Amino acid sequence: MNTTPILEVRNLRKHYPKVKAVDGVDFSVPTGICFGLLGPNGAGKTTTIEMMEGIIRPSSGEILYKGEPMGPRFKNEVGIQFQSTALQDFLTVRENLKFFSNLYPKNRSMDELIEICALESYLDRDARKLSGGQRQRMLLAIALVNDPEIVFLDEPTTGLDPQARLNFWELINRIKAQNKTVLLTTHYMEEAYNLCDQIAIMDHGKIIAQGSPDQLLSEHFQDVIIELPAQDFPQAAEVIPHRRLAKVNPSIEISTQDVNKTVAELLQAGASLAGLQVRQRTLEDLFLELTGKELRQ
Ligand code: ATP
Repeated sequence: MNTTPILEVRNLRKHYPKVKAVDGVDFSVPTGICFGLLGPNGAGKTTTIEMMEGIIRPSSGEILYKGEPMGPRFKNEVGIQFQSTALQDFLTVRENLKFFSNLYPKNRSMDELIEICALESYLDRDARKLSGGQRQRMLLAIALVNDPEIVFLDEPTTGLDPQARLNFWELINRIKAQNKTVLLTTHYMEEAYNLCDQIAIMDHGKIIAQGSPDQLLSEHFQDVIIELPAQDFPQAAEVIPHRRLAKVNPSIEISTQDVNKTVAELLQAGASLAGLQVRQRTLEDLFLELTGKELRQ
């Protein structure tokens, strides 16, 4: 079995005169997984990805594709879905696919692309007239025209409605099922949890946590969260440590390793438990704990 990672990044840096956008990043991506690069705005994700894509030159460090420095082979075997892609005006979806297919020596069949990305019903529509979800599916198809081994998806579901986002997840799973490697950046932690086999969380140009989502959660948290509507908690607020969440209907979060004991304490302090919920820790909690920043929604 070939265990050489499809992509390996060693001590990668990009320093600008006033900012160290990427400041010594190491990770490796095994073939066939979905690898998520997460982090708050300005963390250095796009700079890292653009160096891996060969779009900007690193200040120092190494990027290896299948164990070798990046070269023409990588260019033919990579597919990229950028955050925004400028397309030729007046072309239909079908014409766009043909246009991009012609740029590569090796192509995936048009029928297969249409099927994988569910483009059938709007193939002959002007690409400027697509909904957000349809446009992202077309851009994914464009990223797949050369039947790439590795696909970079930079915030592919930003701005999509929940159903369109779920549809897009389905497409990503289809690509993974073909043993392709996916490198994803996203601001949606639920998306990262559902799609990524491994994640790296970046902040200030460095990786601050790396591993599978479940492994990271079990390493960082031994507790669960009890959530209560704030109005049900007035007396207990003085005796039980908690975090107050400012929402339309404010709520209280209590971290506990012993739900029974905490529930007993709440009852004793006179809280109403009618609206009580217990939840597991999420990647969103981890992100907040590690970066101290709320997520962009
Ligand atoms: P976002 O989630 O907002 O896309 P990001 O994690 O992708 O953020 P980057 O775009 O990689 O972050 O930016 C990292 C840092 O480097 C930021 O402080 C940014 O302002 C800075 N930066 C990026 N490109 C340049 C450049 N060409 N010249 C100077 N500074 C830059």
